[in-house]
Formats: sequence, structure tokens, C-alpha cells
Amino acid sequence: MPENKTGIFPKGEKAPAEYFTGTVWIKLLVPNDPILSTQIGNVMFDRCARTNWHTHPGGQILIVTDGVGYYQEKGKIIQVIRKGDVVNIAPDVVHWHGASPDSEMTHLAVNSNTQTGVVTWLQPVTDEDYTR
Ligand code: MN
Repeated sequence: MPENKTGIFPKGEKAPAEYFTGTVWIKLLVPNDPILSTQIGNVMFDRCARTNWHTHPGGQILIVTDGVGYYQEKGKIIQVIRKGDVVNIAPDVVHWHGASPDSEMTHLAVNSNTQTGVVTWLQPVTDEDYTR
């Protein structure tokens, strides 16, 4: 989301280039809660920005709150996700998520069962992966 546009939540911090391609902002709304075993973050992707491939040992739910983006599980086709969409990601499924080429995308990321771990990062999503 451009600097001049205001979302529901603060933009937070720039996500590390080690694990993301392009410009991504992350605001941790609920830091990992050991009683609830849940962590919730707001994640804003500029056009073309995306996560690396990764897994969540405890699963993840994405709630798209703005824009148009992509979600892909390894070995499957890219799915277009839009404001209002909810994506359930089972534990240990290799996947990535991000904005589309023509729109930013913002989602809430709900990480569940965090006692098993939050995320395991893998390789970057290449331009070839992204445009396929
Ligand atoms: Mn994920």
C-alpha cells in the first residue's frame, strides 16, 4: 500500500528481504500468545511482492482485507485471492502468498498451534514461479 493510503492497521515494519521479494510491511497485532497458541499479523504487499515458499507447522488462516493477490500451494496452480477471501492452509503445506502484478494486497495472517512453530522458510518465489 502506498505511503499516502491508510489501511485499517498501522503498516508496521518492512519485512526482511531474506524471506520476502519486493516491498512488504508487517504489523504484529497479536504477538505469539502461549496460552492461545496463536499469533496474528497484518501483512501489506506492494504490487508483485510476495513471501518466499514456506510452511507453517501449526497451519495458517489468511483473511484478505484489501486488494487482489495470489496464493499457491506447491504442485498446484496459482489462485487469485481478493478482499473478503479466506484461505485455510493446512500444517506443513508448502506455499506462498503475495500481491498480484496489478494490485497491492493486504491480509491478516492468523498462525495457529504456534507451540509447534510459526513458519519454516524455504527458497524465494522466482519471477518464473510468479508469472506461471
Ligand atoms: Mn503462509
